[in-house]
Amino acid sequence: RAKKARTGFEVYDDAQDRDAWDRLAMVEALRLALDRGQLSLAFQPIVDARTRRPRSVEALVRWIDPERGFVPPDVFLPLAEHAGLMPLVTRNVLDLAFDEARELRQLGHEIAVSVNLSASDLIDGRLEHEIAQRLIVRDLPASAVKIEITESLLVHGGRATEFFLAVRELGMELLVDDFGTGYSSLAYLHDLPVSTLKIDRAFTNRLTTDPRTAIIVASTIDMAHRLGLNVVAEGVETEDELARLQTENCDLIQGYLISRPLPAADLHTWLSTAAEE
Ligand code: C2E
Ligand code: CA
Ligand code: CA
Ligand code: CA
Repeated sequence: RAKKARTGFEVYDDAQDRDAWDRLAMVEALRLALDRGQLSLAFQPIVDARTRRPRSVEALVRWIDPERGFVPPDVFLPLAEHAGLMPLVTRNVLDLAFDEARELRQLGHEIAVSVNLSASDLIDGRLEHEIAQRLIVRDLPASAVKIEITESLLVHGGRATEFFLAVRELGMELLVDDFGTGYSSLAYLHDLPVSTLKIDRAFTNRLTTDPRTAIIVASTIDMAHRLGLNVVAEGVETEDELARLQTENCDLIQGYLISRPLPAADLHTWLSTAAEE
């Protein structure tokens, strides 16, 4: 259907119109997927940088559209944001993530699930209540779930501070995602109840090839530790990168070297072998 529609638009011979049409069609397909509960989550292990023992998993949203196939979150989340669908997406993600947090406990894994939030999630004032409610309904401790927020959200999220304080009140950990890519202000780290910094993949990638990046990473880890924060390095793909991060005393790592994001069933298999080491 989308192909036909696209051809129909070609009479205008205007690439921008076509793009606009594609975006609109994708938003409608996403709306349908949300209605039908067709979004899912993949879970990527976050492990101790020295022992490689699993400490938590990050929940990453997945959408497989019948026509488009796998659509990366980097593509559909900005559209969802624009179309006002983000509250629905986030509620879906929270339901699935909290369900998995419960499942992990029932399987005997004391492992937290961390969930990504975007700036528009903090516009309405109900999110912290919805989070608290989901904990109660599933009889979960606050330590079973963590929240990942980006630096830009710290700067632009209207109710950000209010939300963070409520989340801390619950006893839930906050992680600063994509650290170093945004408006890196170290000042807020001091004021906010953040437990962990996640160094963005872009830094991990260049760690072993670019001396300046290595300096930035080393001093970020040092600074975080002085502030009493843990550090996760994202996107670790090679043993060289891991060795370098160990030298710099990075606490936790996440990346294809350890595991790709996995469907829940595969995660459970992965965890059962990882724990046996
Ligand atoms: P992020 O939070 O920085 O998540 C890490 C991204 O890096 C994920 O991409 C993950 O699959 C990918 N990744 C992990 N290890 C490696 C590696 O070793 N090498 C490479 N090349 N990539 C690696 P993904 O799943 O495509 O998600 C992209 C972004 O979409 C996320 O970046 C996050 O900002 C956003 N996102 C994903 N799920 C959600 C969600 O449920 N809610 C919200 N608000 N945002 C989400
Ligand atoms: Ca993240
Ligand atoms: Ca990142
Ligand atoms: Ca890399």
